[in-house]
Amino acid sequence: MKIEVDWDLCESNGVCVRICPDMFSLDENDNLIIATDSPDDELRDQLEQAVAGCPRQAMRLDD
Ligand code: SF4
Repeated sequence: MKIEVDWDLCESNGVCVRICPDMFSLDENDNLIIATDSPDDELRDQLEQAVAGCPRQAMRLDD
């Protein structure tokens, strides 16, 4: 499983941070930080919610 972000679309609004704080955070300049490109499978449900909830459709989850 791999998470990909289209940085041209992401506006760092933090929606995914609230849904899956184990994977996403914002730095002091409000840039999105991703903990790992290859997350554990136990985070799949949260990551699917984050992908679906991204208002910019900036994230994609690949198997
Ligand atoms: S929800 Fe989407 S637009 Fe918002 S910070 Fe996450 S990836 Fe970026």
